[in-house]
Amino acid sequence: MDSRLGDDLAQIPELIDATGAYAVRILDGLAERPVARPPARREPLPLPAPGAGARGALAAFAERWEPGFSAGAGSRYLGFVTGGCTPAALAGDWLTGVLDQNPTSGLDSTAPDLERETIAWLRELLGLPSALQGAFVSGATMSNFAGLAIAREWLGEQRGVSIAEHGTAALGPVHVLSGRAHSSVGKALSMLGLGRAALHPVDVLPAREAVDVARLASALEALDGEPAIVVANAGTVNTGDFDDLRAIAALRDRHPFWLHVDAAFGAFAALSPGHAHLLDGLAEADSICVDLHKWLNVPYDSAIQLTRRRDLQARVFQNSAAYLGSPGDDPDFVHLTPENSRRLRALAAWFTLAAYGREGHAEIVRRDLALASRLGERIAAMPAYRLLAPVRLNVVCFTLAGDPTGIGRVAQAVTDSGEAFLTTTVYDGVPALRAAFSSWRTTEDDVDRVAKALSRAC
Ligand SMILES: *Cc1c(COP(=O)(O)O)cnc(C)c1O
Repeated sequence: MDSRLGDDLAQIPELIDATGAYAVRILDGLAERPVARPPARREPLPLPAPGAGARGALAAFAERWEPGFSAGAGSRYLGFVTGGCTPAALAGDWLTGVLDQNPTSGLDSTAPDLERETIAWLRELLGLPSALQGAFVSGATMSNFAGLAIAREWLGEQRGVSIAEHGTAALGPVHVLSGRAHSSVGKALSMLGLGRAALHPVDVLPAREAVDVARLASALEALDGEPAIVVANAGTVNTGDFDDLRAIAALRDRHPFWLHVDAAFGAFAALSPGHAHLLDGLAEADSICVDLHKWLNVPYDSAIQLTRRRDLQARVFQNSAAYLGSPGDDPDFVHLTPENSRRLRALAAWFTLAAYGREGHAEIVRRDLALASRLGERIAAMPAYRLLAPVRLNVVCFTLAGDPTGIGRVAQAVTDSGEAFLTTTVYDGVPALRAAFSSWRTTEDDVDRVAKALSRAC
């Protein structure tokens, strides 16, 4: 054994203690850490021949890399839609590496059953029926990808061909209809060989990001009975808007289509009594995307995809091999997701759900919703800014009251202040900023600091 590796083996307790103490210093310092570092490019160093041992690696990381990392795990990182990591999720994530399971099949451990239990807990948390079966994937993009892959197979089934067997050439033209689909839907269509051009945007309602269901009905009517895919949106990234899922699902009485719902963060509206109605009809979807590294507050690399047609899913993703077995009625995860080997990413989610339960996670969601409203009120009261949409969920979308093209400078000034991180967007043609609340750590005091940073930045 390499001598450094042998030394580390002999010192595992000390190494874990040292790493733990270092982690505690980082977590304690999150509130003071500049929220997002303006990126200064680091040139790669050559690969070390003899290594430095784990302690040496820790010291090198602490010196060269960690100071440039953001406070993404902190309370004022409001860019994109970024949750943090609850203490229990962190414990679960660490143990994922400690145990290093591969929950791809049930041949060697109960790890796949832990993944199944976690899916069942999430379904219960979000009020979804057990007819929707699920698997863990790395994020909402992969969840949309997997859902649309199953939709593609369903389209083939409508036309009497298996796309998994014969490829997309057997499919003919494909129509994917959506109001304000997330960019990852186009990426998924590209990866699936359906092409980004298969996505046909349908008009949204005036001053909304929700699809105009009457327009969607006409678009389906124009397909004249041709089976299609509809991507409905439950929580848009600019303004947290929701399509009318029940009305969309009802269109299936007249038109054949697969209903995929991108509920990456919007699914968590189910935890707020005042917002749960936004998800009416979600249970009727054929496939659903839910991100967990956003509002569940587990570390990155976690989402689930749910579907009613596990048979089609196994047709797409099956990986039969003598040593892995065949899919059967209750397929192993190796037959259900794009990966074969995969980490037990369910463990962090299991830990946070076991630790805080429905009540703890509902409190996080309700608090973030209240904080988004609070920031919305602050911004509405500042003469320099104007809200571009009412705060419907956890996202505040706003711009300068004067010339909105200056909003990029505001974003930069806020980032430079180290107080907060917000990301820019274009909403209805207007350059804008958005602040998304999804961390368990954020408090009213944080909102007040963000409001102050904004008033200084304009
Ligand atoms: C974040 C997000 C995605 C993409 O999620 P990743 O986890 O970054 O892959 C897709 N759809 C919506 C609505 C999102 O908010």
